[in-house]
Amino acid sequence: NKRNNHEPEFLQAVEEVAESIIPFIVNNKNYYGKNILLRMVEPERLISFRVCWMDDQGEIQVNRGYRVQMNSAIGPYKGGLRFHPTVNASILKFLAFEQVFKNALTTLPMGGGKGGSDFDPKGKSDDEIMRFCHAFMTELFRHIGSNTDVPAGDIGVGTREVGYLFGMYKKLRNEFTGVLTGKGISWGGSLIRPEATGYGTVYFAEKMLETKGDSFNNKTVVVSGSGNVAQYAVEKALELGAKVLTMSDSSGYIIDSNGIDSEKLAHVMELKNVKRARISEYIEKYPNAEFVKGKTPWGVTCDIALPCATQNELDQADAETLIKNGCICVSEGANMPSTRGAMGAFHKAKILYAPGKASNAGGVATSGLEMTQNSLRLSWTREEVDNKLKEIMCNIHDSCIKYGKEEDGYIDYVKGANIAGFVKVADAMLAQGVV
Ligand code: NDP
Repeated sequence: NKRNNHEPEFLQAVEEVAESIIPFIVNNKNYYGKNILLRMVEPERLISFRVCWMDDQGEIQVNRGYRVQMNSAIGPYKGGLRFHPTVNASILKFLAFEQVFKNALTTLPMGGGKGGSDFDPKGKSDDEIMRFCHAFMTELFRHIGSNTDVPAGDIGVGTREVGYLFGMYKKLRNEFTGVLTGKGISWGGSLIRPEATGYGTVYFAEKMLETKGDSFNNKTVVVSGSGNVAQYAVEKALELGAKVLTMSDSSGYIIDSNGIDSEKLAHVMELKNVKRARISEYIEKYPNAEFVKGKTPWGVTCDIALPCATQNELDQADAETLIKNGCICVSEGANMPSTRGAMGAFHKAKILYAPGKASNAGGVATSGLEMTQNSLRLSWTREEVDNKLKEIMCNIHDSCIKYGKEEDGYIDYVKGANIAGFVKVADAMLAQGVV
């Protein structure tokens, strides 16, 4: 598609989906000849805007803000906001496109969107973060709403940022609605939302392991990232009896051969969420661990790998190393962490491999549950939300089997997730006509 030639991440995401979907469309007269995929790859709306804010030195800074409203066939646009210096239209379009399929897989009525800014939160004071979030919302507010588009967090956007964004939305609109998810518990948030993506990634891996009569118990696990998704993936893996060897950030990874237990994880959470420090500081408290600068952790021998940092963090050579070292299961907590080459290697080796749009859907699913609680004006217990999350991850796993199981019994989770998501959105688009 010539229109998108300058957008490599978006093309990568579309090619991966097209590879499973095109043969399916060709063999299915309900979808053939209707240009559905062509319609799906064009965002319904892409908004780009200026964000001016004042730093602590009194200097005016300018960033670019975006919202990609990709597809609203099955519900209001839904997807996170990312604040990271690498943010551009290509990255947000890839994320929004993935989100359409992921949201459909959850079975909840949510369309797909994504947004954010090239603002870099690293090293900014709390006041600067607040001023930026407020400035960002003074434009975004006119494009979103609880029945139109409901943003949430992503890289660089957690409960603190959602709070500042929500505060400005409420002031501008003079209404208290569930326009953002990932809110604090005392002002409309859902229990389990912070944990949901990481927990869901592990629940999904648990289901995959079950197909081989296996489990997390006594397995070694390598995790990348040390943010929201990584932290709770580690927590759940520990609960299920695994030994977690690594965590990382953009400066490198730590390897703790004694295992990152729950006490050490609490220290990582303190470092990352409160002190906003680097992962390398882990070794100051636990000197038996090692910090490996500038590298990803995929060379560490493990049974299970959970990539939970960012896109394209695991390439073909990494995948081949993981396989050679005996890795049996890869469940993606991040969006598109594996390159196309890495995905090819996992498939060739026929190990258990789940793409993020299936395995990390627990986050947005729980955001959907937050929207429901907001509409009903009530709050469910931790246990209720966790049970619903488990059930949703289980249903997604079933959908992947439905469309991805091959004759020899191998489950192609990529194909399964792509076709299951496509069918739901395509049916709604066909029913609504050419709009
Ligand atoms: P956070 O901002 O909480 O954490 C991101 C982590 O990834 C940090 O450890 C960060 O390190 C690392 N990271 C970010 N960019 C890079 C990079 N370019 N190279 C190496 N490491 C990097 O974000 P989340 O945990 O929320 O998100 C992680 C992934 O999960 C993303 O792909 C996101 O899209 C995906 N995801 C998140 C969901 C959620 O609910 N939060 C839902 C579904 C998917 P550093 O601190 O050094 O930047």
